Amino acid sequence: MNLMYSSTRDANIKVTASEAILKGLSDDGGLFVPEQIPTLSVSFAALAQMSYQEIAYEVMKLFLTDFTEQELKACIQAAYDSKFDTTQIAPIVCVDGAYYLELFHGATIAFKDMALSILPHLLTTSAKKNQVQNEIVILTATSGDTGKAAMAGFADVEGTRIIVFYPKNGVSRIQEMQMVTQKGKNVEVVAIHGNFDSAQSGVKEMFENKELAKDLNARGYQFSSANSINIGRLVPQVVYYVYAYAKLLEQEQIQPGEGIHVVVPTGNFGNILAAYYAKQMGIPIQKLICASNENKVLFDFFQTGTYDKKSREFVLTTSPSMDILISSNLERLIYQIAGCDDKKNAELMRGLKEEGSYQITEEMKAGLRDFEAGYATEEQTAATIREVYEKTGYVMDTHTAVAAHVCREYQAETKDTAKCVVASTASPYKFVKSVMTAIDERYAEEDEFRLLEELKRVSGTELPGAVREILNANVLHSLECDVDNMEQTVRNLLDL
Ligand SMILES: *Cc1c(COP(=O)(O)O)cnc(C)c1O
Repeated sequence: MNLMYSSTRDANIKVTASEAILKGLSDDGGLFVPEQIPTLSVSFAALAQMSYQEIAYEVMKLFLTDFTEQELKACIQAAYDSKFDTTQIAPIVCVDGAYYLELFHGATIAFKDMALSILPHLLTTSAKKNQVQNEIVILTATSGDTGKAAMAGFADVEGTRIIVFYPKNGVSRIQEMQMVTQKGKNVEVVAIHGNFDSAQSGVKEMFENKELAKDLNARGYQFSSANSINIGRLVPQVVYYVYAYAKLLEQEQIQPGEGIHVVVPTGNFGNILAAYYAKQMGIPIQKLICASNENKVLFDFFQTGTYDKKSREFVLTTSPSMDILISSNLERLIYQIAGCDDKKNAELMRGLKEEGSYQITEEMKAGLRDFEAGYATEEQTAATIREVYEKTGYVMDTHTAVAAHVCREYQAETKDTAKCVVASTASPYKFVKSVMTAIDERYAEEDEFRLLEELKRVSGTELPGAVREILNANVLHSLECDVDNMEQTVRNLLDL
């Protein structure tokens, strides 16, 4: 029996895993969710001995049941290879009383690589399985990291094209350079004059646009999404939480069955949702601690039960990949705590779209008991980077520092001694200016590219391959557009 996926807004829609991966988003605007979360079928003792790739197979086979063993293993082998700079893929390091799960050892040095190195393979396999003849057009909005990771994953993958929109003034210089230098004949990058939420809304509208779909089809194209709403992104992210637990067991940091907490720097709610799925699969995660930056819409939601994006300003922070006011993946949690009630969820989401807010019931609030939430101000984020560096020599990036601050605060306030795994989502090299300025304000005036050498010196680490690459690369993309012009831009690029 295949595990089927239904829409969070219409439970009558049921598709297989490969169909859900192909479509990205359901036609009704809902997100695909598995009808139940499978449980792991291996013992902790066995897990502790497995490689990343082996654990990936154990986890993913339970979600992607219409993939054959051979297909899934081929996808995993193609994804988690020497693109990563360590055979561990996601090493875990203990620093200052917490365990940092480093998710930034892939091609673009941010955690998006964990899922986006495998998504193109899952997608092309899904296309074959479903006899899709059209070329797949990946349409993606990015707050900086997804775009590059998606382009790197899809570049020159046969049968696919990719168009990425990013906010012109909302990404770091390194992030922008990484994107505009991307090679590949099937790759387009467009800077929009707006923020990430406008980019994401624009992309979502195109997905829901029937007219556009018809015109695409007439030209032999169809859209799919590489955004974190795609279950082909979500499922590979469950893997590293299982892996983290396995490594802690292997290193005898914990006993089999011992509860841990995870702390996740959160934007679109994809990463932490994957941890929640890992918990439901049987990994003893006690608390899922959601860390926000000053765009703390999620923190307020967990405090009050009201999700309200309208009565707040969008703030540009030093952790731009978390500068998000509409956390798309939260819808999957809302649906679940609503007792998988599609009508109720659809109504709440309508509230968000039309009024900019919604409020959950007391009963639904009870479903959030496994979650804690915290946030870090810009000062707290910088202070965390500086303090941990001064104490231990370990240099973390700004996103990770948001989570590290929330983790330290949680440990201090609750005196809870369970081990905490902090999702470390980017290399400090990617956000070198903010990181170095946090360590010493005199770096604030210096050129971002010069600071790379300085970071190398203070941290005693090697310049990652992804950074060496852009130092001498040519700018290949310079397209810009207004928010209102995104559809026309896509039409022009695809010659519709
Ligand atoms: C995308 C991203 C996040 C946020 O992850 P979500 O899954 O959107 O919550 C955090 N940190 C970095 C570096 C990211 O790239």
